[in-house]
Amino acid sequence: MSSSQTTTTPLQRIQQDESEYLMHTYGRQPVALAHGNGVYVTDVDGREHIDLVGGIAVNVLGHTAPAVRAALEHQSSELIHTSNLYYTVPQIDLARLLVESSFKSRVFFCNSGAEANETAIKIARKWGQKRRSGAYKIVVAHNAFHGRTLASLAATGTEKYQQPFTPMPEGFVHVPYDDIDAVRDAVDDQTVAVMMEPVQGESGVVPMRDETLRELRALCDERDLLLILDEVQTGMGRTGRWWAHQHAGVTPDVMTVAKGLGGGVPIGAVLAAPRADVLEPGDHGCTFGGNPLATAVGGAVMREIEQQGLMDNAQRVGAHLQAALLALRDGGKPIESVRGRGLMLAVVLSQDIAPRVGRAGLETGVIVNAIGTRVLRMVPPLILTEAQADEAVRRLSAAFDIAMTEGGA
Ligand code: PLP
Repeated sequence: MSSSQTTTTPLQRIQQDESEYLMHTYGRQPVALAHGNGVYVTDVDGREHIDLVGGIAVNVLGHTAPAVRAALEHQSSELIHTSNLYYTVPQIDLARLLVESSFKSRVFFCNSGAEANETAIKIARKWGQKRRSGAYKIVVAHNAFHGRTLASLAATGTEKYQQPFTPMPEGFVHVPYDDIDAVRDAVDDQTVAVMMEPVQGESGVVPMRDETLRELRALCDERDLLLILDEVQTGMGRTGRWWAHQHAGVTPDVMTVAKGLGGGVPIGAVLAAPRADVLEPGDHGCTFGGNPLATAVGGAVMREIEQQGLMDNAQRVGAHLQAALLALRDGGKPIESVRGRGLMLAVVLSQDIAPRVGRAGLETGVIVNAIGTRVLRMVPPLILTEAQADEAVRRLSAAFDIAMTEGGA
């Protein structure tokens, strides 16, 4: 046996197997996670981390949340899956909760954010055929992220994601984000909808001004367009309200939801207001969409957010975390600004060290998500406390120290 074989760590063994058996679609961080509890995760080497990524805005109640486990346990002993050929109560229950949390609408269930957006795009196309003489173009934003299926990828627009898979489905017009004039200029007779994220998540937590959202609503009314809001990342209480658009006091015609809805169990949903509720039997479907297991968990997650006051917590702890991060800047760390809303935050750095800080965080016990070279995204569980936020910032400070020493900064 060679010496290198004798010193293989658990992580290295996992990395070798991953490389052999999984498609190389992800650039993973050098850590294998084994257990989770609340905002903490433990890796296979036994190190504990405060998880400020939370499954990318998914684990809203934290890891292995009692409410999620109880719903899984109860529903899995009742009925796990039936298909949509039959009625089930958990599906209707979750649809009611979603509608009550948002606007008058009906719900279609699917399994992911991309599928939810794909459904929204189909709704817009059908609505265009029925109501707007075949108009089909959708105005979307530069740097948007709407998913990886072909149509949601066409909406996403990022050249490097699209290029290997061209030709893209047509009908998406990209304009600068948070720019009402650009949207107005892009609208023509063939335009059927405007589709936007209230805060762009994947491109680095870039919020749209409430004013712009109100102007978008007015423009859609004026030009008879559907306003589609992608709340896949911003929804489920993350910004301090159920849905980020509620801060602006507007309602969309179509809203897409996923990520946090299942608290870690895959589920997606689309809500269509009466004017956009055009899908009929046979138009669309999804084998797993809204199955009893996923919707029972979704219902439990929504009730728990309400009962535990997690929207208020997101607002309060988000403000606290933001202040603590700004204090790091004042203490000399290379931080330019902190942006975002509630517990959807980005630290914008003044040096190109975001990936290094992210990796150093794995040594100091805090998980953050580096986007590009200058942004650290934080979308932690909504149960995060102020004390945990403070501890996470202390660990992040230590991560900065390591990253800056490494780079000779
Ligand atoms: N829409 C937004 C705003 C997202 O942030 C994401 C994922 O990051 C998606 C859609 C795609 O969701 P999924 O990965 O569940 O398909």
